[in-house]
Amino acid sequence: MKFKFCYIDGIRRPTTPSLFVGQLVHAALEHLYRHRMLGVQLELADLIARIDNTWDESVLAEEAAFENHAQQEALRQQTAELIAAYLQRVPADEPRPLAVEATMEVPLLDPLSGEDLGIPLLGIADLILDAEEGPVIVDFKTSSRSAPPLEISHEIQLSCYSLLFRALTGRAEAELQIRSLVKTKTPKVDVHRYPARSAAHFSRLFAILREYLDALDRGRFNFRPGWGCSMCDFRQTHCHG
Ligand code: SF4
Repeated sequence: MKFKFCYIDGIRRPTTPSLFVGQLVHAALEHLYRHRMLGVQLELADLIARIDNTWDESVLAEEAAFENHAQQEALRQQTAELIAAYLQRVPADEPRPLAVEATMEVPLLDPLSGEDLGIPLLGIADLILDAEEGPVIVDFKTSSRSAPPLEISHEIQLSCYSLLFRALTGRAEAELQIRSLVKTKTPKVDVHRYPARSAAHFSRLFAILREYLDALDRGRFNFRPGWGCSMCDFRQTHCHG
């Protein structure tokens, strides 16, 4: 249903304050790691300056809807505190990035059967680190609660990253990570680690993809409540089951 609202009906929703903070955090981490790729180490002050310098422009571009100026300033502070927590949590000498905000696109080929599903798979990986044990694919998330994410709720996304990375590089990832920047009163960062994808993961992924493509072909847009509903702009306005 979200696909239909967004891409077929063309309904646009203003960026919520929470999503806006997530976008600014992502942009700051992208800035950090693009510099690390070049061997340049940025400090917290550099990242906060960037957030401040791009804030107004981003508010306009995203049509972010704040209640008032005080809320906007509180969120700007929260963004800076999340970045500070990240720099404290993650060692500065972690492996050098192989790729940052890497757009990956490959034909959608089932690695088990070789079947070509006839469309491309496109994904953007936040960060890929060149660790000693092998490539580590990292996804950044901002969340309001600190709880270990259920692996199954991220399975499609993690398996897609793996599929894209393997198809493009011919290498398997050593590990996948979700780094959650948690918007608690004192912000904190949780690093959740998941093993390299197995044949069973890809088998489940392609079962879902086939079903999804069949539904799109038939114009059958189902109500599918799940983890993604927590971030869905259409939940309260358009989605009535
Ligand atoms: S609220 Fe959930 S079920 Fe409804 S459109 Fe959004 S993601 Fe789909």
